Amino acid sequence: MAITSVWIEEGCIVCNACEAECPDVFHVTDTTCTIRDGVRQDGVESENRDEKAELNTDLQTSLEDSIIAAAAGCPVEVIKYNKI
Ligand code: SF4
Repeated sequence: MAITSVWIEEGCIVCNACEAECPDVFHVTDTTCTIRDGVRQDGVESENRDEKAELNTDLQTSLEDSIIAAAAGCPVEVIKYNKI
C-alpha cells in the first residue's frame, strides 16, 4: 500500500498536530498547512488542494503510516489523501 498524494482541504485551524506527527510532509504556517516541496514530484510547497501533486515515489510507502496518523489526528479532518 502507498499514499500517492496528500492535500489540505479548506478549514485548517493551524493547530500544529500534523507537523508534530509527520514533519517531513506537513508544514504549518501562520494561516494554513502546506505539503512540503521536498516530498512532492512538482517541487512546489502549497496546500496541494488543486494540484494534487504526487509524492516522490520513494516516499509513498515509507511515509504512509505517518500521513495516515496525521490525517486521523487532524481535529477538523481536512487532511485528505489518495491511497493505492
Ligand atoms: S492537523 Fe489539521 S487543523 Fe491542525 S494544522 Fe494540520 S491540517 Fe491544520
